[in-house]
Amino acid sequence: MSDKTSLRQREGLIFERSSPGRVGYQLPPLEVPPADPAKTIPAGLLRGEIADLPEVSEVDVVRHFTRLSKWNYSVDEGLYPLGSCTMKYNPRINEEVARLAGLAQLHPLQPEDQVQGALALMWELEQALIAVTGMARVTLQPAAGAHGELTGMLMIRKALADRGEKRRVVLIPDSAHGTNPASAVFAGFEVVEIASTAEGTLDLAAVGKRLEGGDVAALMVTVPNTLGVFEPEIVKAARMLHERGAFLYMDGANLNAFVGIAQPGKMGVDALHINLHKTFSTPHGGGGPGAGPVAVSDSLVPYLCVPTVEKAGSRFTLSYDRPKSIGKVRGFYGNFGMLVRALAYIRSLGRDGLKLMAEGAVLNANYIRKGLEADYHLQYTGPSLHEVVFDDSLQAASGVKNVDIAKRLLDYGFHPPTMSFPLIVHGALMIEPTESDGIDELDAFIAAMKAIAREVRESPDLVKGAPYGTPVRRLDEVRAARQPVLRWQARKA
Ligand SMILES: *Cc1c(COP(=O)(O)O)cnc(C)c1O
Repeated sequence: MSDKTSLRQREGLIFERSSPGRVGYQLPPLEVPPADPAKTIPAGLLRGEIADLPEVSEVDVVRHFTRLSKWNYSVDEGLYPLGSCTMKYNPRINEEVARLAGLAQLHPLQPEDQVQGALALMWELEQALIAVTGMARVTLQPAAGAHGELTGMLMIRKALADRGEKRRVVLIPDSAHGTNPASAVFAGFEVVEIASTAEGTLDLAAVGKRLEGGDVAALMVTVPNTLGVFEPEIVKAARMLHERGAFLYMDGANLNAFVGIAQPGKMGVDALHINLHKTFSTPHGGGGPGAGPVAVSDSLVPYLCVPTVEKAGSRFTLSYDRPKSIGKVRGFYGNFGMLVRALAYIRSLGRDGLKLMAEGAVLNANYIRKGLEADYHLQYTGPSLHEVVFDDSLQAASGVKNVDIAKRLLDYGFHPPTMSFPLIVHGALMIEPTESDGIDELDAFIAAMKAIAREVRESPDLVKGAPYGTPVRRLDEVRAARQPVLRWQARKA
């Protein structure tokens, strides 16, 4: 371990740097009599003693947080191969545009005639997403993918209620993202899991069988699925569902695999959410903000969120004239800054650029697949689209698990891939490079993964003890889960 590392390990919390009387900034003396807090703040909100805040200087604060920021790994630093997450580079032009004063300083309550530009932008983004998906209309309100799922499922529920039907069941394949069943339950449905086929795809026969009950409201399916495999039976599934009066909900978070190449609207999809913070590059992670617009087919247009943005001649309006709407799912315009970034990205790439983006993502995933096929096991060997799911079964004999491989990758300077997901692959290592990275970075990643596979063969304990070069090494995960320490508390003298 280098000295640098041990120094970093002593970084501690800002509270631990506190020294009585040390201050960051001196306020000038008051020129007016001090206000009596008892007269301005409700008694119940007044504290008896000052909070235990750290007493530190400005330079203490700047250095502490600057050092911490250097521990971070981001998509601006290197490959971020989290599968099912599409961690792509966010071009700086998006940030420039989102910071334009005319956009960033709008007030959401300004009257329509003062925000024509913002409404035009939202209208244009809706048109772009309609063009990409082939769907009838789009609501831009939902704040994330999971929020979009909930929104789409609420529209389906309302459409069923409108027909006087009480269908309760939503079918979800076992390869689904965990948010799918959660959203269906939140929307008031009951989830029935459908086991995937040996190829890892949707089991059409099982769906058909469950449809006979007449109580199925919808099928929720990710396309391509979380194995990065296209669902070849999706059109047939849509037809079967529609014949039985059920809806097809598509989780579109993996849209990066086929933008400009295929349209869910032509597959018979009734609703899908799009993760702007994945496919369309807006920043992602750290809890958001994101944006999960929902695109719908004609059958669900009456239930769209209000307001919708409508265009009359050259004027844009916010329309609430939608009597069957599910209402609002988010205040004001949704996460408007994300909408700006997504449109900037779409406009800067254009139709051909978007197609190239998807092709690049698929090419990169397959380049990694080829590069690592000899060293890591593939449970599902069907063609990969934008991501590839290896597992740790070749390494298992040495007692090395996917988590050890992921930890060792940190020593090689890479963010690990998604682990242990999808659940149908034991010991999964799910890699999605996206189109952002060039061949040099992909080669370096493949070389690191190959070097780790060699280490597992030659000295597995080395891998099991990783990481060695990070500020914090292995955590006691069980203790962290059972006895979490989430708050700093002053040691009483
Ligand atoms: C990311 C993702 C989601 C959820 O999106 P959030 O924006 O994180 O809520 C849902 N499904 C799939 C397949 C995803 O990859």
